[in-house]
Amino acid sequence: MASSIHTLIVGAGIAGATLARLQAEAGRSVLVLDRRPQVGGNCYDEQDAAGVLVHRYGPHYFSTNSDRVWNFISRFTAWRKYLYQVKALVDGQLFDFPINLNTINQFYGKQFTSVEAQAFIKTQCPTIPNPTNAEDQVLRQIGRALYDKFFLNYTLKHWGLHPRLLDPEVTARIPLRFDQDQRYSTRRYQAMPKAGYTNLFHHLLDHPKIQVELNCDFLQNRTAFHYHQLIYSGCVDAFFAYRFGPLPYRSVRFAFETLPLPYFQDFPQINYPNDFDYTRCVEIKHATGQSHPVTTLMREYPMAEGEPFYPIPRSDNQAIYLQYQQLATTVPNTFFVGRLATYRYLNMDQVVLASMNLHDRLEANQTVASG
Ligand code: UDP
Repeated sequence: MASSIHTLIVGAGIAGATLARLQAEAGRSVLVLDRRPQVGGNCYDEQDAAGVLVHRYGPHYFSTNSDRVWNFISRFTAWRKYLYQVKALVDGQLFDFPINLNTINQFYGKQFTSVEAQAFIKTQCPTIPNPTNAEDQVLRQIGRALYDKFFLNYTLKHWGLHPRLLDPEVTARIPLRFDQDQRYSTRRYQAMPKAGYTNLFHHLLDHPKIQVELNCDFLQNRTAFHYHQLIYSGCVDAFFAYRFGPLPYRSVRFAFETLPLPYFQDFPQINYPNDFDYTRCVEIKHATGQSHPVTTLMREYPMAEGEPFYPIPRSDNQAIYLQYQQLATTVPNTFFVGRLATYRYLNMDQVVLASMNLHDRLEANQTVASG
């Protein structure tokens, strides 16, 4: 079986499944391995015991500005248009989040216009020309009071690190708005796969040139496979047996609770920066649009140990990663892609794009090699 494999792909998440499809459509025989018993990586969703469709590894709201990504993924799913909103509970009140004009007015008890709010917030902000950490990145934009209530403790909880110890990119993901836009993201395309993510992945991988082997840990069985090229989307440090030391990844424990009522909260996601040990409570039913008499909540408890979910953006971690990245370039016919393998805090659409670009590169090299 294995000797006829052109492309061996480790990981059946977004990176692996996208590359599998593209490689198969280019005529390559593909074998996809995953150590979990299912495809979909962290996008995996399923009906729980009560019949509620849940996201087992945290909420995934699909959004992108890229026509290329949107057109590609749209081949494998119908969509449910959905603009998701997040609220933050601070001092017993729900606020719009990301911070917008409503948040500012509610927080300060004002009725500022957009222009007035901008002028006021400016008076609250220290001058920090080049922020080098996540705290400075927020402080220079919104000032200390909002930072303390909305960012400081959430970040401490989520990362187990003070925002001063994290790169600015962590909080720069969150916009600041002086209008009343309540969308979490303003990307052009925002939607949920109508029949769920797992269904989307089954369509992506449904191709005569693709085989999938589940419950298979490649790193424990390296010599069992013969292939022309390897695409690896697992943790890069594990691939190299931690030669330069382990790369820190942040984990999360997801606690599910089913309640005998159609909805528990008015929004898909409520963040709790300052209360509780969990960061957020997600009722994904709002986003999936499922009509069901009961509902399931998911609370997220950040953890140091456990499945790796987030690379931790810090310069010392990046320095370790760069050693692995350098080493990776020396392994023939082996390519690293995705959040864990490139140690980058990427969104789903960025992973699709990175995978499409890698496929293009591989095929261009192939043409040169055989030309
Ligand atoms: N963040 C925060 N308060 C919030 C939401 C986010 O301080 O209510 C910070 C926190 O550091 C978090 C980062 O912004 O890790 C990025 O948030 P995002 O919602 O993009 O996180 P993800 O959904 O990727 O976990």
